[in-house]
Order: sequence, then C-alpha cells, then structure tokens
Amino acid sequence: MSQVLPSTIPAALFHERADAIALTARELAQHGWTPATSSNFSMRVDADHAAITISGRDKGKLGRNDIMLVNMDGKAVGTDSRPSAETELHTQVYRRWPEVNAVLHTHSRTQSVASRLFAKHGVIRLEGWELQKAIHGHTTHESVLDIPVFPNTQHMPELVAQVDAWLDAGKPLHAYLINGHGIYTWGRDMAEAQRHLEALEFLLGCELDLRRLNA
Ligand SMILES: [Zn+2]
Repeated sequence: MSQVLPSTIPAALFHERADAIALTARELAQHGWTPATSSNFSMRVDADHAAITISGRDKGKLGRNDIMLVNMDGKAVGTDSRPSAETELHTQVYRRWPEVNAVLHTHSRTQSVASRLFAKHGVIRLEGWELQKAIHGHTTHESVLDIPVFPNTQHMPELVAQVDAWLDAGKPLHAYLINGHGIYTWGRDMAEAQRHLEALEFLLGCELDLRRLNA
C-alpha cells in the first residue's frame, strides 16, 4: 500500500526515518526481542507527525514499505495501512517530550518475565548498577532509576492514563514495563533510544539473575 505524504513532509525525510526504523527493527529482531510479529517502533517526522511500523509485520524483515505516517493522535495519514494497536503510546511520548525523536517497544523474554515478577510492586527499582549511566541524565551508579510496571490492557486509553498519572505526579520516566507484555523506552535520537533499550534489557536480566541466585 502506498504512502501519500502531506506537502510539508519531503519524501527524503520520510524515507530517512522509515529506513532508520526498519534497520533498528531488524537488529532488535536478531536479538530475539520481537517474537511473532510483536513490538513496534517509531520516529518523529515533524511536530505533528511520526513514522511508525505497520501492524502485524515480521520485524526481522522490515523495509521502508512497512513504515507508515500517523498524526500525533495516532491516526493514519495518507495511507489505508493500519498502524500498530499501541500507536497512541508512541504519540503520547512525542506529545509529552518535544525533544524525543524515537520510541522503541519490544517484547523480549527478559522484559516479559521481569514485568510479571515486579508487577506486584508496580515498579522495578534499579540501584547500584554501573550501566544505569547509559540512561540520559544519569551520571552515577548511586542514582535511583525507577521503572514502573503498569497493568496490561487492550484498551489503550487506560494505558495512556496510567503513564500520564505517573508523569503528572512529577516522577521521572525513561521507560516503563507493561505486565506480561514488554517495555517502552525512547530517546532524543534512534541511537539514544536503542542505548536505553539495550541497557534496560541488560539491567532487567541482572535483576532476574540475582533472584535466581537468591542473592
Ligand atoms: Zn506490545
């Protein structure tokens, strides 16, 4: 299905974003973090639009034509393709942080297990790990990094409201888990978003290992 762009968005800009999303998706799929066509990825295109993965595509085989344009309400623009069911969670991030330009959502085994284990606390507290410094604004392992775990639902407005409530309480947010589901994180560019995702995957794995070892 073809993508018709608004006159304000140059084709080269959209293609650059689409290619960057597809490349990252293929890399993350190679890690095994996007099983069974799950996960979704996006980049901001301008103040009013984002490029996002089309629903249901194999993330290990993504190309430019698997990416579509949406507005900041998460609605398709210039295409009949269907965006991911979770598009509203991406556009929420772009609306809340004008400086954020990439959002990544994956369903790795580590993320899924950690979300189940910590759901009863509603949060995973990361403290004392050197790799916390990979998260923007964190300069020491002595800082505290809280990753909330929100209950899963197929009704996106409920999830959006949970994220809003966390932020409106004035709590910092660099990522969140959804129980039994996966993780969302983001960055000012794709490289930063990917660094956040890789660091969090590693740190969640460390927390799970400590519990396996009963340490
Ligand atoms: Zn998902």
